[in-house]
Amino acid sequence: MIKALIARIKQGYRTMEFPSPEIKLPPRFLGLPEIKAAGLEKAAAACPYAAISAQAGTLDLGRCVFCGACAKASPAVKFTKEYKLCAGSREDLVLGRDGARRARPVPEDLRRILGRSFKLRQVSAGGCGACEADCNVLGTLAFDLGRFGVQFVASPRHADAVLITGPVTKNMALALRKTYDAVPAPKLVIACGACAISGGPYSGHEECPGIPADIPVDLYIPGCPPHPLTILDGILRLIGRVE
Ligand code: SF4
Repeated sequence: MIKALIARIKQGYRTMEFPSPEIKLPPRFLGLPEIKAAGLEKAAAACPYAAISAQAGTLDLGRCVFCGACAKASPAVKFTKEYKLCAGSREDLVLGRDGARRARPVPEDLRRILGRSFKLRQVSAGGCGACEADCNVLGTLAFDLGRFGVQFVASPRHADAVLITGPVTKNMALALRKTYDAVPAPKLVIACGACAISGGPYSGHEECPGIPADIPVDLYIPGCPPHPLTILDGILRLIGRVE
């Protein structure tokens, strides 16, 4: 016991401050891209998921899997270390040369209902496990999601929102529907990762119809998988805890 206590004292306080200008991301991290007009054709040709339109001068963060192939093919795309990528609408995920539009908080009356607590029911609708792992890691001491009053819960009846990962396969469509229906109103929906947003690599596949049109999405979290900080920033932005 004494050894455990000494080790704990030596380790010190391990939970990161958030939000904080001190946050350092690893050198391999690819964050918000910046795009230029010249040379965008080459970048578009290199993209395996048709996320770039050279004609429109846009990059769709909802389709992008952050593989970096476009940036290697052309200097027209440059990835920054910016992890704040979430948007409140599908259109806001389409980056033009004028930069990004970030997610906005839900209306004040809904925030009043939520109070200081926000409970999420996660549905892995055909996900590979990567987005799920990055949601899971938010519960560890490094991120400590619970200190913000945010928790993943087991029952949809205890939840304020459904967080969806994966491309929503036909096999998982009924489970998602039942979960969504079981969450009491007013309820929010979060699409986490490129698969949930656009189908990702499975876009257009007949087995992956995606999130049904009558399940409205309130927050889009891009990435493949999104970095835990991107997820954390998006969730806190949605409930008005960061600006
Ligand atoms: S990083 Fe995104 S936009 Fe660039 S090639 Fe990969 S999927 Fe396409």
